[in-house]
Amino acid sequence: MPEMPEVESLAQFLTDKCVGHAIARIDLAAFSALKTYEPPLSAFSGLEIESVTRHGKFLDIDASRLHLVFHLARAGWLRWRDKLPDAPTRPGKGPLALRVRLDDDSGFDLTEAGTQRKLALYVVTDPQEIPHVATLGPDPLAEEFDRDMLASLLRAAGRSQLKGVLKDQRTIAGIGNAYSDEILHAAKLSPFKPANGLTEAELTTLYESIKTELADAIKRAEGLAAKDLKGEKKSGLRVHGRKGEKCDVCGGTIAEVSFADSALQYCPTCQTGGKLLADRRLSRLLK
Ligand SMILES: [Zn+2]
Repeated sequence: MPEMPEVESLAQFLTDKCVGHAIARIDLAAFSALKTYEPPLSAFSGLEIESVTRHGKFLDIDASRLHLVFHLARAGWLRWRDKLPDAPTRPGKGPLALRVRLDDDSGFDLTEAGTQRKLALYVVTDPQEIPHVATLGPDPLAEEFDRDMLASLLRAAGRSQLKGVLKDQRTIAGIGNAYSDEILHAAKLSPFKPANGLTEAELTTLYESIKTELADAIKRAEGLAAKDLKGEKKSGLRVHGRKGEKCDVCGGTIAEVSFADSALQYCPTCQTGGKLLADRRLSRLLK
């Protein structure tokens, strides 16, 4: 699943490729992905792309003040092509959700793997019309996101667990399952620690870890083509998705907690004083 660093570099990639080009046409293959009715996708034909920006994990293509906004969700991806095939898209067949064709026949496909349909597209004149965009918390890369701001966000979150608070888009925009694991590992904090239970020193470390982990991930992804981003993300992660592997900080073994539809990974030695966190799914089965 692309998170803020990947979406940020997709925004840069699309800026280089698309800005200044007009949209020739947009074809929708997965009808359920489009969440708005007016204006229609055909309204983009002939409009010039002026910018490509990011709101949290949403990408926003501004074409003469009509915005195509999309969220790739867990299994969505963007595939750029210097020359799109001429054959028309076939609705409902395969992973293709949307095809955007530019005036020189280059363009991109949005695809979604698997059977869950979570990829979401919106056509709006103002991105703030999209509820999930309007309710986004502050962007952790923004200058105004300082240590005091993090402190007040965590205070407001009360005893909620850090892992969930970092992933909550209404609290902080752009961090998902992978980078929340990485940030908590770098900060040596338990994913289950209550948000309002941090010492001043822990707060400082968490703040610095958020900034550093995201900035490093963006640096690693910088200049990569869309197709290379996924591999880069995976190879850059030190704890997420690495259950059973050695922690490269302490040499301990990385552990996992599974939930119904996701899992988190952490290093017990670095983060929980050697204690294994209860696996929620497993303990429910044993009851
Ligand atoms: Zn460790």
